[in-house]
Amino acid sequence: MKFEPAKRPLTGETLESLTASLTAAGEKPFRAAQILDWVYKKRARSWEDMTNLPKALRAWLEGEFTLMPASLVLNRHSADVTDKLLLELEDKSLIETVIIRAPQDGVGLDHSRKTICISTQVGCAMGCVFCASGLAGLKRNMSAGEIVAQLLQVCYAEDLRTPRARAELASFDNIVVMGMGEPLANYDALIRALTIVNAEWGLGFGARRITVSTSGLVPKIIKLADEPIGFRLAISLHGATDEVRSQIMPVNKAYPLAKLLPAVKTFTERHGRMVTLEFILIAEVNDTPDQARRLRDIALDLHAHVNLIPYNTVEGLPWERPELSRQIAFAEVLDRSGVSVTLRREKGHDIAAACGQLRLKTEREREATPSH
Ligand code: SAH
Ligand code: SF4
Repeated sequence: MKFEPAKRPLTGETLESLTASLTAAGEKPFRAAQILDWVYKKRARSWEDMTNLPKALRAWLEGEFTLMPASLVLNRHSADVTDKLLLELEDKSLIETVIIRAPQDGVGLDHSRKTICISTQVGCAMGCVFCASGLAGLKRNMSAGEIVAQLLQVCYAEDLRTPRARAELASFDNIVVMGMGEPLANYDALIRALTIVNAEWGLGFGARRITVSTSGLVPKIIKLADEPIGFRLAISLHGATDEVRSQIMPVNKAYPLAKLLPAVKTFTERHGRMVTLEFILIAEVNDTPDQARRLRDIALDLHAHVNLIPYNTVEGLPWERPELSRQIAFAEVLDRSGVSVTLRREKGHDIAAACGQLRLKTEREREATPSH
């Protein structure tokens, strides 16, 4: 299903496209940079806020564009270190954006390092059997403007937490595209959104601090490797053999390991940067010593970092996380051979699982209350 909003979201415009629209409407081209400065640097929340623009131009903008295509429904600040923002899009679709706080050095108590996890689709068509995001299938792709809007909503929320609000606007350290949806299945909107996030006239956020996670759409991985902006890549591997991976990730039938792994190698060679292999540990599915050894061999061959994520249970699904001792034994097989490996331990750091689940709960509640 495609959603065509009545007005274009301003957050989906590039400096180039906005300049073109202004020029076509008989406005001065230099206004584009001023407008984007209001959106991304000064964080204007209404057209009236844009005080250095003539009134007629503000009226024209209001007629053409939606300033913010995602509204905040709920900000769940949890006792651990995650904030989950539940956002509603113009067609009432719900998406989730998560702020994960961690210590700067990985061990301290300050929790000042912020990673933002964003969504790219409403639902997901990939059908991974363990995942909450894909349970109801794909509703629709998000537009570039909606993808970018999530980060502005995070900025708004964080600006409120920053005492000297306007004088010192909040910032964050990393962006991971690991929320709801398969980012590479919404390729053009993803690249447009990340271009806006990266641009000086946009959020000015470094590409090296942006990670795109994919379940393994091989042709799109190759395409991403050729993009002029060098984003980081994470692969949701979750199975170190075709047998195990195909059981839990249908995408493996179209793109088995013999296709996926060379594509990852190509990406690494073109970027000269380590790719991350995400591996959720699911009890009695992929947590065996044999899987650990095979994952080790793959990681060594690709010079990849491995991120082991103990599975987070999803209501209605039968999968469970293995005992801690088994998680550690798995990690040690990799570590002993010199693979760069992390085992996620703290709940709040659990980026992946943080996404998708709050939205699922709210959708279910909405279904149970027909008045919505
Ligand atoms: N579709 C992309 C990005 C979003 S999913 C992808 O699959 O890579 C982000 C990560 O969360 C993926 O690695 C995914 O496999 C993982 N994930 C999904 N459900 C999870 C759960 N219940 N517990 C832990 N990780 C989960
Ligand atoms: Fe989609 Fe990623 Fe979930 Fe698979 S793990 S269903 S690709 S969001």
